[in-house]
Amino acid sequence: MTSSYWLSEPWAVPDGARDDERVDVAVVGGGVTGCACAHVLAGAGLRVRVHEAREIAGGASGRNGGFALRGGALTYDVARAQLGPERARALWQLTERYLERLAELAGDAFRRTGSLRLAADAPEVAELEAEYEALREDGFAVEQRAELGEALAGRFQGAIFHPPDGALQPAQWVRRLAARAAEAGAQLREDSRIESLDELGADRVIIATDGYTSGLSPALDAAVTPTRGQIVVTEPLERGVFPCPHYARHGYDYWQQTRDGRLVAGGLRDKALETENTAEETTTPLIQGHLERFVAELLGKPPVITHRWAGIFGTTEDRLPLVGRLPGRDEVWISVGYSGHGNVMGLACGELLAQAILGEPAAELELFDPARLVTA
Ligand SMILES: Cc1cc2nc3c(=O)[nH]c(=O)nc-3n(C[C@H](O)[C@H](O)[C@H](O)COP(=O)(O)OP(=O)(O)OC[C@H]3O[C@@H](n4cnc5c(N)ncnc54)[C@H](O)[C@@H]3O)c2cc1C
Repeated sequence: MTSSYWLSEPWAVPDGARDDERVDVAVVGGGVTGCACAHVLAGAGLRVRVHEAREIAGGASGRNGGFALRGGALTYDVARAQLGPERARALWQLTERYLERLAELAGDAFRRTGSLRLAADAPEVAELEAEYEALREDGFAVEQRAELGEALAGRFQGAIFHPPDGALQPAQWVRRLAARAAEAGAQLREDSRIESLDELGADRVIIATDGYTSGLSPALDAAVTPTRGQIVVTEPLERGVFPCPHYARHGYDYWQQTRDGRLVAGGLRDKALETENTAEETTTPLIQGHLERFVAELLGKPPVITHRWAGIFGTTEDRLPLVGRLPGRDEVWISVGYSGHGNVMGLACGELLAQAILGEPAAELELFDPARLVTA
């Protein structure tokens, strides 16, 4: 079935929100970012409307791997080298705080399981050691795992465990966040595709479309590369094999086991990097074949696949998101480009963007200044 397992639970957009013609803030995109923004802004008393072209969480927020990890697309040692030690530490601290916030808001859609980063070969073992040392030096919780369980031994050569991380049912989480935004007074309009920012009837506009580059700002679209990810889900396995999200080969292989025992596995984009840089939300036989073989090897036998789908995320040149005012358009704000790590960052950046609009910009936003990559 080429639709997301996460989105298969029934849900209806909550009603009761005001239907104001003109709003203070219009949000384009009903994923984690748009809903997080709307929740904070409506909570502060602003009139807010979310326009979602499909359904709430219908984009990457309901189609992802369900990993809720601290940090961003870079590993900690690489972030320290790229951003400098202070900014890297501040970014990790920010995302650890937002993992707590996620736990508070998501209820049982979030499980605090930790996550396991695995090394597939000797060079990756050295990379894990570099991340482990860097995290330890800066006082972050991390554990080396010398013993790998039966399912991993032989296939992987080392592992580090990140205790603060967790596993999400991402669509359930974002629907809950949307319901909170509606309770706070935000309007949620599904099946509402925006073709031009001028049609919005709002004093301020937020673009929260991540990889679904919306055509609303050519300068923004030029700074974000739509990137496709594909996923397969098995029928429930007989036993629990993977207690937390696992990832290897720099995140090109990732998998987790759901509460009901299904294996959710994604990645292998590196088998066709050029063709996977696309906004076309379709599965391909090549990547699906690789995913099926990968899962069969992990489990020791070919499983029954019940769901398969594709989703699009937005990648930036430096793999950090673009969060703040759109250069050249004072009334337009953006939060996009999480480069494949938007579950925690999307919540963090959505809330920080809302706070900036309310006149309280957090210091961390300087790291994500859109002006570094978007020209006016
Ligand atoms: C296969 C896959 C696996 C991933 N795995 C993980 C993971 O395990 N952990 C992690 O942290 N991140 C992961 N990510 C990334 C993460 O899912 C995204 O970064 C995050 O969901 C982005 O949320 P968002 O709200 O910014 O954007 P989205 O959730 O993509 O929402 C944007 C919405 O905007 C709507 N839209 C676009 N244009 C318009 C328009 N003109 N008018 C109205 N609406 C519009 C779209 O329909 C879409 O619903 C993954 C992504 C994919 C695709």
